[in-house]
Amino acid sequence: MNAAQPLHFPRRMSRHVYVGKVGVGGTAPIVVQSMTNTDTQDVFATAMQVAQLAHAGSELVRITVNTREAAAAVPKIRERLAQLNVDVPLIGDFHFNGHKLLTEYPACAESLAKLRINPGNVGKGVKRDEQFAQLIEIACRFDKPIRIGVNWGSLDQALLARIMDENARRAEPKNAVEIMREAMVASALESAAQAESLGLADDHIILSCKVSGVQDLIAVYRDLARQCDYPLHLGLTEAGMGSKGIVASTAALAVLLQEGIGDTLRVSLTPEPNGDRTREVIVAQEILQTMGLRAFTPLVAACPGCGRTTSTVFQELAQDIQTHVRERMPDWKMQRIGVENMTLAVMGCVVNGPGESKQANIGISLPGTGEDPVAPVYIDGERVVTLRGENIAAEFRQLVDDYVARTYSPRI
Ligand code: SF4
Repeated sequence: MNAAQPLHFPRRMSRHVYVGKVGVGGTAPIVVQSMTNTDTQDVFATAMQVAQLAHAGSELVRITVNTREAAAAVPKIRERLAQLNVDVPLIGDFHFNGHKLLTEYPACAESLAKLRINPGNVGKGVKRDEQFAQLIEIACRFDKPIRIGVNWGSLDQALLARIMDENARRAEPKNAVEIMREAMVASALESAAQAESLGLADDHIILSCKVSGVQDLIAVYRDLARQCDYPLHLGLTEAGMGSKGIVASTAALAVLLQEGIGDTLRVSLTPEPNGDRTREVIVAQEILQTMGLRAFTPLVAACPGCGRTTSTVFQELAQDIQTHVRERMPDWKMQRIGVENMTLAVMGCVVNGPGESKQANIGISLPGTGEDPVAPVYIDGERVVTLRGENIAAEFRQLVDDYVARTYSPRI
């Protein structure tokens, strides 16, 4: 099957919430989001990173709003983004002092498309309800949706204590892991009910319950999905660095997405020092695209290589084509309809090369070690040309560009 062809899994039906211009939940596509790691009060650096994330395909971008300086910077970041022609909705991430910042800086609330609050960090004791009500009043006044984002590292301790007490009275008490999961779901649902009772419309609420364990995340979201119809934001928190973070996030999110659970997602990767923040956007897109749930950019299928490909020519061509497609995609996407559905194959030799190439829109099989130095190219299942010599990479890139130009209609 063509890897980019959309599959139709039964999707949990949730309410539809608008976050600025972006629809989340209901029948809307599953939305990719990301978060900056710049100091928000640095308007220039934050706007630049938001623009980079948006350019990479992030459909929503979250920024920390943790100080007065950060709150004051938010409208300026929005202005700077307008100058850069970037209209991606911004989400403000608030903890501890969100009620104060949003009250003192109404332009901050106005500039954001959504507020993210953590019910475990809204306030302690009697102040908790008062400060939560203040946040909801501001969301209602500015007509902003809220994500109630529970995080197991900052779970509401009063609620946890209450649930532990209730558990102790049960004939068959649950174990500690089950209680933690139950408390997270209860925190999200009770906070959502409280927000509604304070006047926030039910189509202005998105929920998340982030944990760092794959099995915990799956169990918590299954429970949450069963018990409500708010859109759900998926993400494994503290996923980690490099391949560990990618594998853990993919393992958890793929199970939930396959079950139709999840309306928006973020892949929380710890970047390498000076690493590229946009990696989390690309991974999120690749999870959705390889599962056949959305198409963002042409997919390049490549074999792993083996003893038949002992030179690096094959790896270099596969990387070259992947990079070429990613670099060309912003222009292609603006100019051509449906180009994101294109599939390519770069194969190491003719053992599986022609078969895989025929399944792709355009595919090439390089010569294996000791084989004739020729590279057959298939386009839409037909062998159309055989490349040879030193310029195979450049000629194949040209064939890809030509294919895009003649296959995908121009946008008018
Ligand atoms: S297609 Fe050829 S080079 Fe690639 S893994 Fe298979 S046998 Fe090896």
